[in-house]
Parts: sequence; structure tokens; C-alpha cells
Amino acid sequence: MSALLDADKAAARQAFEINKLSKRLHRQVGQAISDFNMIEAGDKVMVCVSGGKDSYALLDILIGQRRRAPVAFDIVAVNLDQKQPGFPAHVLPEYLASCEVPFHIAIQDTYSIVKRLIPEGKTMCSLCSRLRRGVLYRVADELGATKVALGHHRDDMLQTLLMNMFFGSRMKGMPPKLVSDDGKHVVIRPLAYVAESDLERWAAHRKFPIIPCTLCGSQENLQRVQVRQMLRDWERRFPGRIDNMFSAMGNITPSHLMDRNLYPFTTLKSTGVPDLNGDRAFDADDVCGARSATSITLGRED
Ligand code: SF4
Repeated sequence: MSALLDADKAAARQAFEINKLSKRLHRQVGQAISDFNMIEAGDKVMVCVSGGKDSYALLDILIGQRRRAPVAFDIVAVNLDQKQPGFPAHVLPEYLASCEVPFHIAIQDTYSIVKRLIPEGKTMCSLCSRLRRGVLYRVADELGATKVALGHHRDDMLQTLLMNMFFGSRMKGMPPKLVSDDGKHVVIRPLAYVAESDLERWAAHRKFPIIPCTLCGSQENLQRVQVRQMLRDWERRFPGRIDNMFSAMGNITPSHLMDRNLYPFTTLKSTGVPDLNGDRAFDADDVCGARSATSITLGRED
């Protein structure tokens, strides 16, 4: 009897947690769509579904968003079969047929091109993604899509920022909305505010038929693996740090960086007017650093 009660309690607890997760995912996606004006009335949103957890979740949540959205918009799901060996071509059509939106399977053998051009043992992902992007833009034209939605999430965006800083010497991330290189498409990332761990839980709950992205045999970029591991480690050891870093991407103070194209350092003159909002709290510590830190904590300045 008590074992049954315990099982009931566990099931109720799990249902409560999933309901909370569902609400959070829809709230965050709705917020990102609204903050960046990602979807407008009459849009036809092409959702790119690769078979990974993120794009399945994107489609699933966007379908939910459409039901409750104040404006009418269409969704079309698109998968690109790149002819990787072992790709289970029946999985996505079967899954997409069970969704309430039209879908299209594009077939283009980019795998052979990548294999031909990239030497054995080298990472193929960069060329593969570029070719995939080209095909998807063409399909967007053919389908009359006005927006192309991708399943990148908060952690992808942070990883990209750090990768560009560590290995590319530039502060450049992955935007929630952008115009494609050819100037013809608007790309949106409605999962911009969503944590990867939430998508993992959602994918497990919804039992998405995941197709691994390793069928091609390519090794993932080692630098990206290391950065992802570092972020996960930080999240575990310093809860809240990832959220803070992510918020920082939308809260930039050009006058406290050093890009001369963004702020006129070279022509800067004193104004004679005190700036009460001057940002001093995290200026580099000097030899009095320990004392300054204490003062900041106490809310006073020496
Ligand atoms: S893992 Fe394979 S299919 Fe996925 S992006 Fe890289 S090369 Fe392309």
C-alpha cells in the first residue's frame, strides 16, 4: 500500500516538474520571439529539423506557440537528407506526418561533396554546414518561407561567443535574428533563451526519435567540445554564472570596451559633468584590490 502511495507521489511530482518545464520553455520562446520581433502576422516560418533534440523541440514548441499566438502565422517543417551513410530516411517523414504542420524533405547529397573535398581525418562540419545552409535557403525560396528558424539555444550562443574570443580574437556571438549572407533571408533562433539541459529533458519527455549527427563519422571540433565542457563545469560549480554571461550579451557598454569603431575614444574629451552612472564596481583591482572589494560589498567608496 505504502509502495503504491510512494509511486503515486513520484508520478505526481514528475508531472508537476514537466508542467513547469513546459511553461518555462513556452515562456522563454515567446519572450525571445517578442523581444526580437522574430515572427510577424502572415509569416511563413520554415523550421529546419535535423533529427537532433534541439530542432525537434523547436518545432514542437513553435506549434504550441502558434496555437496561442495573438497573430496568425504558418509553419512548414523541412528536413534535408544529406545522404549520410546509415541515415534512417523514414524516421523524420514518419514523425513529421504526426505533427499538425506541412513538411518537406529535401534530398541533396552533400555528404559525397564533403568527403571528396575534406582530407581524411579532418573535421567536415564547417563545409557540411555551409552546404546545408545553401540548400536550406534555396528550399526556403521554393516554399515561399519568410523566416528560417534554427534550433540553436542559449548554450550554443555562449559557446560561439567564447570560441570567437578564444580562437578568433573577436567578440562575436550567434545572434537571435539575422539577415543571411545573401541578404535574402531572415534567420531566427527562437530557442535563444532556452538552456540546453531543459531541451534534453523535454526531448526525453516527448520521446523524440533522435537521429545522431555522428553518422557521417566526423569528429566534433575539439575546441567546441572543450568550451562546452568548460561551460558545463562552470554551471555546476557556480550556479547562475551562465545566465549572467548570457544576459551580458544583451547588455553591452561600448565605452568600457576598446573597439574604436563602436566608441569615439580618439576624440574623447572631458565634459566637466559628473556621471553618476559611471561603472566602477568591477574595474581591475590594483594593489588595494582586497580593500576595494570589501568597500564595494559594504556599498561605499574609499
Ligand atoms: S557531424 Fe557530420 S552531418 Fe553533422 S555537421 Fe558535422 S559533418 Fe555534417
